[in-house]
Amino acid sequence: MSDPDTHAAAPAATEPTTWAEVPRVAETPPAGRRVLLAAPRGYCAGVDRAVDAVEKVLQIHGAPVYVRKQIVHNTHVVNTLTRSGAVFVDELDEVPDGAVVVFSAHGVSPAVRDQARAKQLVTVDATCPLVTKVHQEARRFAADDLDILLIGHEGHEEVEGTAGEAPERTQLVDGPDSIADVQVRDPRRVAWLSQTTLSVDEAMASVDALRRRFPALIDPPSDDICYATSNRQAAVKEIAPRADLVIVVGSANSSNSVRLVEVAAEAGAGAAHRVDSVADLDEDWLAGVSTVGVTSGASVPEVLVDQVRAWLAERGFGDTEEIRTATESLSFALPPELRRALRAAREQAEPASSGRSQVEPG
Ligand code: SF4
Repeated sequence: MSDPDTHAAAPAATEPTTWAEVPRVAETPPAGRRVLLAAPRGYCAGVDRAVDAVEKVLQIHGAPVYVRKQIVHNTHVVNTLTRSGAVFVDELDEVPDGAVVVFSAHGVSPAVRDQARAKQLVTVDATCPLVTKVHQEARRFAADDLDILLIGHEGHEEVEGTAGEAPERTQLVDGPDSIADVQVRDPRRVAWLSQTTLSVDEAMASVDALRRRFPALIDPPSDDICYATSNRQAAVKEIAPRADLVIVVGSANSSNSVRLVEVAAEAGAGAAHRVDSVADLDEDWLAGVSTVGVTSGASVPEVLVDQVRAWLAERGFGDTEEIRTATESLSFALPPELRRALRAAREQAEPASSGRSQVEPG
């Protein structure tokens, strides 16, 4: 909240003597303009770990360090790491044999791991542990010879990685409309899984529709939509009905950021827009607006939110109230192969400051 105005009763001072001292009426913000800042927002534990992993691998090995796919779906993060020496590639064909490669937070299929072994790559796996959990569920369902219906968005890297665990058993369900096309071997032996970053409400609508078609549908042991996705959606739902405009900071390929825009609109925001950064903001969005909601996706560094808030403050939206709906304390340890490499690097550095460590093959 902004500080209360302590100058209201100030007595008349000496008359202004220069133009510079004349109060500029145009700079006085219109009354009632405010920002509702959603919390939690921004970095989740999986993104924090993945970005940290690339930074640590760069420290140990120096550039270049190859990263398969965007380490997390955020343009600013990718550009920053690129400047530090990370080389982002779409497929391992683009990585020289024997090089160091980091797998992104979204996970990889067994076929990608096989390719890495064939090329003798030194791998660091930054797959979020909550994505790994879904991979384990896929393997378990496949081992039980169930058909797996994977609720998610076609082409998303996480979905490709999860489906790759049991490609012959897995079918993608991209929204309730695609359920009519699903074909299974035995309707009594069907299980569902989901991408971790979906809209909670939409995913549940797909599950309900699947269960109407397959009453014996088997649930995963726990929800696949992760805590960070759920918490950010709950927070934006809280601010959206009170906001004339909701701004979601996040990149276009960030599934959870795009879902936040949809959730805000459905929850009653006057309008909802996604921006990659402050450069995407549009003055016209503020016409007639008195309350702006601000949040950010799970792959967004807070500095980008700070820049958006500064832009809004310059336009009279400096009064900010944070609306917190959950407190997060989860963090993940770095990948074990990276922890071993860091330990080895420390041990090498202790007796002598020279020498470079190697990340052990994964
Ligand atoms: S959004 Fe969820 S699943 Fe994805 S990296 Fe973050 S914590 Fe992991």
